[in-house]
Amino acid sequence: MSISTSGESHVLFIDLSREKAVKQPVTPEEVKLYLGGRGFNSRKLFEMVNGKIDPLGPENVLALGNGTFAGTALPMTSRLHVSTISPLSGILGDGNAGGEFAAMMRYAGYDQIIIIGRASRPKYVWIEDERVEFRDAEGLWGMKTGELVDVLRDEHGDDVSVTGIGPAGENLVRFATTMVDKYHAGARGSGAVWGSKNLKAIAIRGTKGVEPADLETFYGLAKEDLEYFKKSEFVRKIYSVIGTHYGLLSWHPGWRYFSRYLGPDELPKGLRPEDLAAYEVGRTQCYSCPLACKDVYYLPKTGEYGTSSEFESIYALGSNNCITDTEAVLQMEHMADEYGMDVITLGDTIALARVLHERGILSDEVLNGVSLEWGDAEGQIELVRMTAYREGFGNMIAEGYRNFAKLVGREALAYSYDVKGLNRGWYEVDFLNGVFTLAHATSTRGADHLRGRSWAYWENDVNMDPEAVRRMLEAGLPDYRVDPVGALIAGERACTLADSLGRCKGSINMWFQAVPLVWKYPIFKGTAMLLTAFTGMKFSERDVVDALDRIYLTEMAINVKQGIKKKHYDVKFPPELAKTEKFRRQEKRHWEMVDEYLERRGCDVETAYPKRETLERLGIGHVADEIKGKEFPEWDGPPLWPLESYPGGE
Ligand code: SF4
Repeated sequence: MSISTSGESHVLFIDLSREKAVKQPVTPEEVKLYLGGRGFNSRKLFEMVNGKIDPLGPENVLALGNGTFAGTALPMTSRLHVSTISPLSGILGDGNAGGEFAAMMRYAGYDQIIIIGRASRPKYVWIEDERVEFRDAEGLWGMKTGELVDVLRDEHGDDVSVTGIGPAGENLVRFATTMVDKYHAGARGSGAVWGSKNLKAIAIRGTKGVEPADLETFYGLAKEDLEYFKKSEFVRKIYSVIGTHYGLLSWHPGWRYFSRYLGPDELPKGLRPEDLAAYEVGRTQCYSCPLACKDVYYLPKTGEYGTSSEFESIYALGSNNCITDTEAVLQMEHMADEYGMDVITLGDTIALARVLHERGILSDEVLNGVSLEWGDAEGQIELVRMTAYREGFGNMIAEGYRNFAKLVGREALAYSYDVKGLNRGWYEVDFLNGVFTLAHATSTRGADHLRGRSWAYWENDVNMDPEAVRRMLEAGLPDYRVDPVGALIAGERACTLADSLGRCKGSINMWFQAVPLVWKYPIFKGTAMLLTAFTGMKFSERDVVDALDRIYLTEMAINVKQGIKKKHYDVKFPPELAKTEKFRRQEKRHWEMVDEYLERRGCDVETAYPKRETLERLGIGHVADEIKGKEFPEWDGPPLWPLESYPGGE
């Protein structure tokens, strides 16, 4: 297998405590078993993290993985996948972002970077092909993310790619992001893990190439996929005209801390697509992407430019807090990017604080002068800044959603609509035939829409190309209206594939983007053809599905080690509804679906642990050896530190 013009690709192990870097070749067997990106990262986390840990301690592992097709001409394969044990949830935390870092890693000869230990002083790592240097970062500490990229490019050249953190990561904000060339990978607080390791950034330049085993076939297939996206009218309209605001046309943002979900016709003035478009001054895109979905917006009040205003930031920072001032919402999103914080957890935690204050559960004394009036844009802008620096009440918000509720007290936890520590609101089980709530419960990184949920009900794709969707259903894609559990497992496989290949799942969450060539060939056949041409190893569709299930079950096993039990697959309803007959019935149906899901995934229905026979069939029986018969203390979120012990904490 040759995937680089200079020979095999490598894993680069970086030990910050000892300032040592060691390379290890990636074997063909690893690619066959775990594909790359998210798959590689999850494997390493399972192997290297034994038992429950403090995610902010030096024993945590930070894994950066490019996807199998990074640096090639297959469109939208720019994602850098970041995985760790999350300081926000205390279980697997991962996510990805575009930019050029993933391709640069491939060109430098690396498919994965594993970071362990803790530097004694702030450092950054400079990589140029084989050369790896540990450099002083005292002068970079405190810098916001945009300036960090500019300064490191001044130092090393405009062609380098940079990943790192802003002030929120340094201050161990539990939902700090990893920035990749000014884009952001949430990865559930991975930025705080960088901060805990005293690592500010990695800058990289690679000068090699990529050489598929069967160049002609691989580039023929990649070209076909690219042409599809270039020719599709629907895709052009969505990406070029509407971009990342697409969700506002069809999805339902939460209003006033999920007291309602707004239909597209109910969006308040200020948060409609045309209001956001008024601030747009251009478009930008990630490496190897023909779509350019990311808007560039200008903020007249501050004179700054921002990028990628999305459905998520508009609902979390805007409607869920009753803030409808367009520029204020965009400004807060830009601030979150510059400080390096996840907008969803930031906005939802502030909205949770508002509802707790309104109900008298959170006292004025704790707020210490901070206003929590619904719709107070100026007050929220200041609270965003205070959170990044852990100032005053911002120090509590910086703990993030469920952890914040825990600090407030038991009564507050009833309003924490999380699964395994991650926030995504609450939904009736009857909604979309149960797929929404089930997907939140089964996601291996906690409640989430990008782990399978949005792919399980595929409405977006029906609008796009009914003929192709018909072919997919004929090829065996389960219909969520008939088989919601089967549809969810299929959706989880699609997302696992995209994250492992390094493919963008996109701003409209569709099968055609996540799964290469699915518009032409049955489900995973196109992927198998691409993998065969790229690696020179024969991949069947069965091999692809087995790899995806192997990755998912390995992730479940990571969480078993962090104390996840079956009870943590639960569903949350607002406390005033939870005890009604209607919601008891819905809860019962949810648990029936969880049982069916576990059965079909090959897990024990009593414990939710992956079964030995399933793991052995997938060729990873050693995973069963590590979890079977062992007692892991039950999960209750990550260990929280005394507030005054954080950097900057008051
Ligand atoms: S669709 Fe958007 S987010 Fe995805 S690779 Fe293209 S520009 Fe980047």
